[in-house]
Amino acid sequence: MISKKLIDLGVLALRQRNSRGSFKPHISVRFRDDTGDLRMFSIDTTRTPGKLSQPDAYLITHAHSDHHGKSAMLSPNAVCSEKTAVALEIRHDRRYAGRMFGLGDEVDVGGIRVKTFPTEHTVGASAFYWENDVGTRILVTGDVKDAGRLPPCDILITEANYGDPADPACHFADDLEGMKCALFENGKVAFGAYEFGKAQ
Ligand SMILES: [Zn+2]
Repeated sequence: MISKKLIDLGVLALRQRNSRGSFKPHISVRFRDDTGDLRMFSIDTTRTPGKLSQPDAYLITHAHSDHHGKSAMLSPNAVCSEKTAVALEIRHDRRYAGRMFGLGDEVDVGGIRVKTFPTEHTVGASAFYWENDVGTRILVTGDVKDAGRLPPCDILITEANYGDPADPACHFADDLEGMKCALFENGKVAFGAYEFGKAQ
């Protein structure tokens, strides 16, 4: 799917194919940098085999498995926060091979100044922001818990998985009585849990 509006803004969003011929998870964006060179950032997606052409960066927003850092972390073109790199190394028992930044710092990716912003979704979770040759402001967030510190943008690439914090219908009270009842009156129960910081 190619949006003419995106093209007008100097951005092409695309999904690459993997070695099995199906689509990779998440998207890549093509754009031109200040000097007019064509660039591509791949977002939270798996690594392209080394013999094929590589994106300028694999942006990893955070260390949850559905954002595929386990694969992308092995590329020297990976970019993630220091804390996300540590989390990926612990979770996957692999060495992180890419670039790191302090959360909130600016990182130079091949001459492109990429700003980073905390999203509070997990420890180290970061949004990425940069501008292309025509001044289009591109913001990539991954999952977001707190959008309060994210900058204005022209193109937003985000995850549509949470409710509106301003909508009272999206607020849920703790149900401790229900939990006690399940634990002490209903016998054996299993509670779902995430192995690495989930914000919900
Ligand atoms: Zn997540």
